[in-house]
Amino acid sequence: MMEKLRPQAQGIQINAMQFLKQPSAAQLTKTGVSLHHFIGAPRWPMLATNRDPTLQEYGTAGKSANNNGCYAIIHSGGQMVTPSDYMDVIEAVQPEIFVPIADEVPGDASRKRTVQSVDRTLQWLDACLARLSGVRREQQHHVRHHQEGADGQQGGDAAEQQQRWRRGDADAAAEQDEQPAKRQRLEQGTDGGGGDGSGGGGGGSVGDKGGVAAQAMLEPPLVLAPVMGSRFPEERVRSAKAVASKPVAGFALCGFGMGEDAALHPQLLSAAVAELPADKPRLLLGMATPEEALEGVVQGADLFDCGYPTHATLNGYALSFPQRMPASNDESGEGAAAAAAAAEGAAAAGAQAGADDSKVNLWSLEYSTDKAPLVEGCTCFACRNHTRAYVHHLLHTHEMLASVLLEIHNTHWWLGFFESMREAVVAGQLGEYAAWFKERRRAARELQDPL
Ligand SMILES: [Zn+2]
Repeated sequence: MMEKLRPQAQGIQINAMQFLKQPSAAQLTKTGVSLHHFIGAPRWPMLATNRDPTLQEYGTAGKSANNNGCYAIIHSGGQMVTPSDYMDVIEAVQPEIFVPIADEVPGDASRKRTVQSVDRTLQWLDACLARLSGVRREQQHHVRHHQEGADGQQGGDAAEQQQRWRRGDADAAAEQDEQPAKRQRLEQGTDGGGGDGSGGGGGGSVGDKGGVAAQAMLEPPLVLAPVMGSRFPEERVRSAKAVASKPVAGFALCGFGMGEDAALHPQLLSAAVAELPADKPRLLLGMATPEEALEGVVQGADLFDCGYPTHATLNGYALSFPQRMPASNDESGEGAAAAAAAAEGAAAAGAQAGADDSKVNLWSLEYSTDKAPLVEGCTCFACRNHTRAYVHHLLHTHEMLASVLLEIHNTHWWLGFFESMREAVVAGQLGEYAAWFKERRRAARELQDPL
């Protein structure tokens, strides 16, 4: 499926917590390969995050957490996980980029609990970095030992294995074709987020720092330090200031999508981003809707998680929300009218057919004989090769292929949205794009009830 999403998609996002059990870190290590090889995707760079963007964790965040660790929701239920457990998983998975464990709290947590969350996450970050330093020292020692050994010419299988993570597993697999370009993207932090959209401010190369410490920051796995603070701007600032000077490759803006008031997002994001170095990438986790992602880009986030397309897939929807600002939208004053007219047209076309201006509901019986692609004009694999009627049939017969085809379309559509935002950034039109997008969506909402 992932190959059908090339070249737009360039990496995989995984939730590290899912590898606490079945397979556990110990089981995965016993296979002798990284997760890339385990899942048959050796050429895909991997981003490991500390939360699953497809799970609603509002009700469980912060539950049972103490200074030693937090409670994680996994497919087989939930369990306590310490920084050490978490790093066991990271060492087994061998991602190119990862976000250390964080003490997530609900959006309505008290100030006292939020302060505690910021402090704990900082302590856990230090624990993760210390563990990583130890691993790197061990690897260097191991490699040196083999280079100096009798089989120095060959290097030895073990040394080769140990070296692979440092070079990046996916890099090693792909080095024969696009190694230089991939390495550069990785260093810029634009390679690895399944639904990444490197478009906002900052996000430049982090390779210009010089020095041994800076070099270590760029050796896989790259660490994106969690910035916490929940709904309190001053705690966001305190957390961001504390991680800004840490030896990390970038930052992860965590603690969003936990039931907090979305109206606070611009203030919370700008407060944190202002304290972070402009030359390091920022990953935004938990803000999933198109409007939230757009706000993230406006506020300077560079990378995003990809829960939204998967949510659409799980509900049998094909995304169809507007992505591209019409070229004729230059004349101010006519933009809103054009947006309303376009939204009205889309609503009229889909009103009777289980569709609105954002998505098409393939469960709808309206599509049982519809020979059109999921979304007219879409160039994804699913739309080029299959009909709404077929996907409707697959859904009603509970065939897994329905989810596969919908996920291909939805990820393609989501990445197209980020492509449009990147183009707007490059053209210096992000403000105009944001205004058009919000008006277009508002006009559509007024014409029909959102699904
Ligand atoms: Zn499509």
